[in-house]
Order: sequence, then C-alpha cells, then structure tokens
Amino acid sequence: MSFLSGFIAIIGPPNVGKSTLLNRVLALKVAIVSPKPQTTRNRIIGIYHGDGFQMVFMDTPGIHKTRTALHKSMVESALAAFHEVDILVVMIEMGRADDLENLLFTGSLKEIRKPCFLVINKIDKGPKDQLLPIIAAADRKYSFDAILPISALTGDGVGGLLEELKSRLKPGPQFFPTEMTTDQSESFLAAEIIREKIYFHLRNELPYSSAVIVETLEEIPEKNLLSIAAWIYVETNSQKGIIIGKGGRMIKSIGKSARKDLEKRFGVHVYLDLEVKVEKNWSKDPRALRRLGY
Ligand code: GDP
Ligand code: MG
Repeated sequence: MSFLSGFIAIIGPPNVGKSTLLNRVLALKVAIVSPKPQTTRNRIIGIYHGDGFQMVFMDTPGIHKTRTALHKSMVESALAAFHEVDILVVMIEMGRADDLENLLFTGSLKEIRKPCFLVINKIDKGPKDQLLPIIAAADRKYSFDAILPISALTGDGVGGLLEELKSRLKPGPQFFPTEMTTDQSESFLAAEIIREKIYFHLRNELPYSSAVIVETLEEIPEKNLLSIAAWIYVETNSQKGIIIGKGGRMIKSIGKSARKDLEKRFGVHVYLDLEVKVEKNWSKDPRALRRLGY
C-alpha cells in the first residue's frame, strides 16, 4: 500500500476553536489558544504522523471583512492557504450558525473541487438538539462532504474527524520527517507563547496592536539553559504602561507564566528577558508589519 498524505486547512471565524483542535490533534502546543479572538496571526503548520500516512495542518486566521493593514494581511494569508491545500475543514460553533454565512469564501464553496468538511465545535456547551437546525441549514445551502459535531476541548468526535480526514488522503509523499511536528522556528514558537501570556493576563485591557519579536534565543549547554530576549511592541506609551503595570508587576507575571510554558515546551531551564517598546501605528503600516514578521 502506498503512503498517504495531504494538506488540510482549518478555516473559521476567530475564537471558534481552530487552535484548540490543532493542539489536541498534535498534543503539542504549536498554535496559541486564547480566550480573545484573532490572536493567531501567522499561518501555523502542524504535522500529524500516522501509520502509513501524514496530515499537514494549517491553522488560519478567521476570514472576514476587515480594514487595517494587519487584518488585510491576515485575510490574505488565510485565502492563500485555501488554494494550497487538499482538504478544507470549515469550523463553526454550536449556537452560531450565522457565522457560516459571514465567512467570505462560502459563496465559492461549490466551485472548490476539494473535499470540504463542516465541523461544528463546542458541542460540550449545550444540549445536542441545538445541532439539528444548524445541520439542516448547512446541508440545504452548501455541499459539504460531511458534517461533524465535535468538542475540541473534550476531544469528543475528534477521533471520528481524523478518520474522516484520513479516508480522503491520497497517495503522496511523506512531506516532513516523522520527528517534525511543526515547521515554525523555536523563535516563532517562543514569541507565540509570550504573546499568549500577554493576552491571558491583560484580556480586554490591551488592543490587538501588540507584537512580540524574539531578539535572541541562545542555548547555553553547560548550564542546560535557554536564554531568550524578546521585545514586546505596542503603539502608545499608555499601552506600554499597561503591560509593565504598577511597579513592574504585570510584566513580571507575564514573564513568569511565559517562562513556565517555555520550559515545558523546550525541556530546559529558560532565562527570559522581556522589554516593552513603543512603535507608533505599526499595525497600520505595511512596512512595519513586514519588519515585525507579518
Ligand atoms: P481560534 O481563534 O479559532 O484558534 O480559537 P481558540 O482555539 O484559540 O479557542 C478560543 C476559545 O474557545 C478558547 O477559550 C478555547 O478554550 C475555547 N474552546 C475551543 N474549543 C472549545 C470546545 O470544544 N468547547 C468549549 N467549551 N470551548 C472551546
Ligand atoms: Mg487560533
């Protein structure tokens, strides 16, 4: 039997649970999970290795109408992902059936001759009879190959989804070696973890206009230590003040929980140095965006 492989995009509105699903499938923290929408800005690739097959996942930012340059680059990367993959997984959540119509691409769903699954996430949140109207509406309007209710959080239905995906893989190369679970660099992963902690600690206080750049990431083998220096970019002095907090308390908490996760992720002790910098209007300036890695 020949080796099976395929690229799979997970597409859906912000906060629907794409990163949670990806993390569950890979049992590895490659994409950040946050209670705030739209924290995944870059395309993250995760690789699921099975017996005789390989699934390459892409986690995309939500596709929806936007204005700023930052949002535009997110939408573009999501749409680009769409053309490069073999299988599409469209994700909505229970109780929010309207989201399906708000996704920009649903109009062209029929023209895409690719297997396309609808996943209804967060079924742990309410009675399952809420599902029936969503399934009926989706079935009437779009031609999904299958509609799969799941809970990315509890894992309910995720095994079934993987089986369904596996059945659509085609004979193809093993794109990545088995020891590889993501193509993202260590610096990128470190920045994602720090960013996640910023969102976690500040919740609604901080706008989306913050970016994290890992300046140095250095192994010091004799001390079994990873030394990481990162800059947190914000747009105004008041945002800088919020991140630093009274007497430096906020940045200390962010640093502490980030360091914990980084140590778990990399399996060594981590020394973390965080600095906050003000860069005016970066989220609206395409050049600044490129410099900051978007
Ligand atoms: P993304 O923006 O689509 O990547 O969404 P995330 O994966 O970051 O998840 C957003 C929020 O939804 C987080 O607080 C998750 O814990 C939560 N979430 C994700 N999947 C589920 C689920 O199956 N059930 C419940 N109750 N919450 C979920
Ligand atoms: Mg995400």
